[in-house]
Amino acid sequence: MTLNDKGLSGDLIIEKSLEFGACLAGIANVEELKQSPSHNVSEKISMYIGGGVGTKTVEGVKLGEVKWPAAAKSAVVIAVEHPADAPDMDWWLKGLKGGTKGNARLMAVFSKLAEWLEQEEKIKYIKIPYHIEHGGIFMKDAAVSGGLGCVGKNNILVTPQYGSRIRLRVMLLEEDLPSTGVIDFDPCEDCKEYCRKVCPEKAFDEKLYSAEEYGQEELPGRTGVYSRMKCNLQMEKNAADGKEVEIEDTGKKGHEVRHCRLCEQACPVGRS
Ligand code: SF4
Ligand code: SF4
Repeated sequence: MTLNDKGLSGDLIIEKSLEFGACLAGIANVEELKQSPSHNVSEKISMYIGGGVGTKTVEGVKLGEVKWPAAAKSAVVIAVEHPADAPDMDWWLKGLKGGTKGNARLMAVFSKLAEWLEQEEKIKYIKIPYHIEHGGIFMKDAAVSGGLGCVGKNNILVTPQYGSRIRLRVMLLEEDLPSTGVIDFDPCEDCKEYCRKVCPEKAFDEKLYSAEEYGQEELPGRTGVYSRMKCNLQMEKNAADGKEVEIEDTGKKGHEVRHCRLCEQACPVGRS
């Protein structure tokens, strides 16, 4: 068990996250995280990531720029499973707390963990938004440093236990804790790339970024082939297909959108 100078254990935080409902959890040290692939390259590739689902345009903030809170020393990354037979975990429903059922679960784990840290451990935490341009960070990089899995050829996190069928949330801490550490896991190496082949927009079919140009080997889609702009075309089609549905247990109606998850669902990793 690794303790920091106040005797705080990252292992205990992970244990508590799991107890509060996360399916996976880990710790990433902020100084390490600042050097991670997405944080290194995001500003340089901002012209390719602007607009659409997952990005926002905010006046005065450069696209792809990560604004780290000065007091942040480490990050706790928590995950909840989105099982293949529960697609509704991911459906966006306007009027539903958290936007999706999966996010509502993440919020519940987050608030129990925050309460425990503050009241039992006297540890200050920092809540950050989801979007980078609003003050978020690249959660998949935090998950890699936190030992949850690796970034797959589908450009999202792949975990040994659940494949990519998880969602992440990050809480920053004002405590310096070491990263749980990268795990020895790479299911993509010899895979037939089901994730890439299934994409309706062919978002992985073209080389957009090179190691020479961007000064690092780890690039979007691992090899520099992932096009967020093409993926966004699909998200826009999904949004246009949205419809009014009943919001469970409220008697109210809300607008529901079912975004594409094909590159996540096609991955065979973690299926029993
Ligand atoms: S389908 Fe294969 S290549 Fe794609 S993320 Fe899964 S393991 Fe990696
Ligand atoms: S979410 Fe859908 S459109 Fe986007 S990259 Fe994956 S398979 Fe392609």
